[in-house]
Amino acid sequence: MADGTSTLRIGLVLPDVMGTYGDGGNALVLRQRARMRGIDAEIIEITLDDPVPDSLDVYTLGGAEDYAQRLATRHLLRYPGLQKAAERGAPVLAICAAIQVLGHWYETSAGDRVEGISMLDLTTTPQGVRSIGELVTNPTLPGLTQQLTGFENHRGGTTLGTESTPLARVVAGDGNREGGRIDGAVTGSVIGTYLHGPALARNPELADHLLKQALGTDELAPLPLPEIDQLRRERITAAKR
Ligand code: GLN
Repeated sequence: MADGTSTLRIGLVLPDVMGTYGDGGNALVLRQRARMRGIDAEIIEITLDDPVPDSLDVYTLGGAEDYAQRLATRHLLRYPGLQKAAERGAPVLAICAAIQVLGHWYETSAGDRVEGISMLDLTTTPQGVRSIGELVTNPTLPGLTQQLTGFENHRGGTTLGTESTPLARVVAGDGNREGGRIDGAVTGSVIGTYLHGPALARNPELADHLLKQALGTDELAPLPLPEIDQLRRERITAAKR
């Protein structure tokens, strides 16, 4: 692993302020899917009391309300460990408010413009109505073959610049709300999406994509979990109705 030990270290970044939608579950899924394959894994929680380490193997950040999102932005600018980790290719998963924080700037619902940390080439402005409901997408990121499912709850609309590509095409729901029917953004090893769920609980293929990158491997032992497949089918069918 990045620190030379045999333990996969998963950074759960600022769950104290970016934990509103249960996205911390993404870190649990990564740890569990690693452990079920016999790989040692632990979650390192990075709170507003901690500097952000640049040495972890994979990072996840969750959604939040506008004010909490501002606190997170300030912290990530003050301690640029996440930016350094992404520069060396560490995988980063950013959900909803986090996709906005990782962009160049976002405007809050109150109309304030907040400078982001510019890891993704995008900007976000508030839209008239909130997007709330199920979101289903067809991934365009190479390596992903299965539809993505989750729920969205945001007012921000996100416009991608040329350095970021979408994660997926929207089948049901809203996603980025700007730039056509697309969701999310990808730059290098950084993936952003509006999918809550948690996204990795609903989408094992995406979880394994991050694990492969973190472990530096193309292959992981299959992990058949029929209950999850069944739940995915039900949710995708319901969302398309
Ligand atoms: N506050 C942001 C918005 O409404 C993000 C919300 C979220 O993370 N779910 O766009």
